[in-house]
Amino acid sequence: MSETAKSRAAALAHLRSRDFAKGDPIPLPLTMASIFHTPGEEAGFDQYGRYDNPTWRAVEHALGHLEDAHCLAFPSGMGAISSVLFALLKSGDRVLLPADGYHATRALAERFLKPFGVACDTRPTPTFLDGGFDGYRLVFAESPSNPRLDICDIAAVANAVHAQGALLVVDNTTMTPYGQRPLDLGADIVVSADTKAVNGHSDVLFGHVASRNTDIVAKVRDWREMAGGIPGPFEAWLVHRGLETLEVRFDRMCSSAEKIAKRLKNHHAVGALRFPGLDGDPSHNLARAQMERFGFLISFELASEQKAEDFIDNCALMQSATSFGGVHTSAERRSKRGDAVPSGFVRLSIGCEPVEELWQAIEASLDRLDG
Ligand SMILES: *Cc1c(COP(=O)(O)O)cnc(C)c1O
Repeated sequence: MSETAKSRAAALAHLRSRDFAKGDPIPLPLTMASIFHTPGEEAGFDQYGRYDNPTWRAVEHALGHLEDAHCLAFPSGMGAISSVLFALLKSGDRVLLPADGYHATRALAERFLKPFGVACDTRPTPTFLDGGFDGYRLVFAESPSNPRLDICDIAAVANAVHAQGALLVVDNTTMTPYGQRPLDLGADIVVSADTKAVNGHSDVLFGHVASRNTDIVAKVRDWREMAGGIPGPFEAWLVHRGLETLEVRFDRMCSSAEKIAKRLKNHHAVGALRFPGLDGDPSHNLARAQMERFGFLISFELASEQKAEDFIDNCALMQSATSFGGVHTSAERRSKRGDAVPSGFVRLSIGCEPVEELWQAIEASLDRLDG
């Protein structure tokens, strides 16, 4: 992590203290309110729960501090993604999406943007630059892509997209603001499913949109207010709490993933392993240049669907679950979610367990596949 990322992390826990009055609670209070005391003219204070809420403001402030940008909170990652697409695109526009990214983003475009007259194309992440961006209003990238962990050169994509007068959105879910900084690399907008590592405790769905462009932020805020896709205050409070330990959790998860990916790659049962942090991985050189860390996701193939299921089920320190980024190590055989991957393809999300104990459990479960 760079010095600035560390100083941002250090300041995070003290952000609220600037405004403290004597006797204020140091942790964030939870404000459960749909209405506020509003005598006289409407200006400068909270009015109604669909417009604003002090607990969201606190989590948006904290996320904005980490992103170094304006931030808007949403009730899920898809809530954040759909708000960006619906607020910024209109009939006749063309949008480009990753062919190998999170499946719901493509499904949303196919099923809902297309009928509104927005043309949608897809392109694989490893060759995302090929063909240029002529004719697009908005380009949406995901790097590393979920689940295969291919990456694209975000700065080069941003330059090429801007040369065509289009906007670049990057889904930064797999990396968090500590692991990769798409806005610093030139992206106009970051979207994130904070359901994953940002909240980190697998007990909330949440998302955010970050941008340094105030016109974009105003449009997305207006969309949120009119469409009503607002986060609940309690969820915002939980995410604020999760954020306070994100740096510690993310550091542990990424460090453990680096150790475990190396060992997994050398295990005879494991094939086609992908981890951007491994020497020799197709993503490695670019990952070193554009990512602060290599992340906590590892993907690989086992010989069959059954072996993949057995590996996950028989590992004492692994949960069989979709999603990723929680404190518990979890894994999923992704073909069951409709990703175009072989039936023995596993996406592994390294959690916060002590790494040697975790590795022993993983190795034992792999060794059992031979029997
Ligand atoms: C999970 C995920 C989403 C969607 O997030 P939800 O909170 O489930 O709506 C979007 N993008 C990526 C890369 C994801 O992994």
